[in-house]
Amino acid sequence: MGRIFTGMWVAIAAFWLLSSDAWAEPAALAGDGAAITEDSGNVFLTMELSRVVPWRVAMADEPPRLVLELQDIFLDREVALRSSSIGDVAVVPTGVDRYEVNALLREPLAILSAEMVSLTGGGARLDVVLEPTTADDFRSALQEEGAAPEPDRLVVAIDPGHGGRDPGAEADGMREADLVLGFAFRLRDALLASGKFDVVLTRETDEFVSLDARLTRARDAGAELLISLHADALEDADAASGIVVYRLADEARAAADARLIERHGPEDQLSGVDLTGAGDDVSQSLLALARKDAIPRSRDLSAKLVAGFRSAELVVNSRPERVGAFTVLKAADIPSVLIELGFLSTDEDLRRLTSAEWQIVTAAAMRDALLLWADEDRLR
Ligand SMILES: [Zn+2]
Repeated sequence: MGRIFTGMWVAIAAFWLLSSDAWAEPAALAGDGAAITEDSGNVFLTMELSRVVPWRVAMADEPPRLVLELQDIFLDREVALRSSSIGDVAVVPTGVDRYEVNALLREPLAILSAEMVSLTGGGARLDVVLEPTTADDFRSALQEEGAAPEPDRLVVAIDPGHGGRDPGAEADGMREADLVLGFAFRLRDALLASGKFDVVLTRETDEFVSLDARLTRARDAGAELLISLHADALEDADAASGIVVYRLADEARAAADARLIERHGPEDQLSGVDLTGAGDDVSQSLLALARKDAIPRSRDLSAKLVAGFRSAELVVNSRPERVGAFTVLKAADIPSVLIELGFLSTDEDLRRLTSAEWQIVTAAAMRDALLLWADEDRLR
């Protein structure tokens, strides 16, 4: 981070002494909430709040973005901000009543001014004014002001299932391969906008990619986590509704969940059960060791994801956490999950899956779950 505009870290202590009652509840967006407007090249970000809160705003790089930290506030997900200079905005919870609002820059901008003023009728307003700058100046400003070292970013591999000659499930003219690729892009953007992740996609076009190649792409990018995305079709409509998160388990338990694997034909990428290329005893025992570690981490990941979907009030399956022996889950060294985002064979799921709003909320829920998982996982 570069030049940091900050306020109220001291003032807040004084206010606390004067009127502690007023501070019992976290602040919230008020009035017109958050807005971005542009005028003569400058960008004006305003946020109306129920009261003054501690805040901090700075530019950060990789990806270039404005980072706004807010404390003692509750923000819902509906900070919908976008303009020709500002791309996706991600609101990331960073603690109890603490958030980081990351606004991706579509072009280089510098902070011209930033202040939080209390309004006469009560409440407060944060005003941030950004002005155009050059890419060189943006970067050199970050360096000059002593950019803080970026925290370690978690490398996430997103694996959109199927592709090319393997369209996956089809319903109502929708192909699973296209749907999960579209969602993968949304998830990638949500993760990148938070500044906490690096992301690799195992495919970015409608191409056939073998399972081996998918895992190789993930490993080559140093992936620490793999999320495979699907939206299959099942004949049993009751069982096939809502989000399901699969993780790898021992072979015995996996047999109970073999139904989806059977559904995928012999040529399908999910059908393999053995680890390709892991022939000799040495590699097998190494893999067994790696799996021993990856399995509990995958289990935690799966639990965090399902909890995140539930708290975002998304529809999950009646049995949302399952085990499976999908080959894509057998990247022994990387915690991996396979998510059925829904089932194309179910009308309600199809409606949700094709809704931009549902996709945005779902991607945000996954991002928050991954952040929580990463925090706990690092402590191990
Ligand atoms: Zn599939």
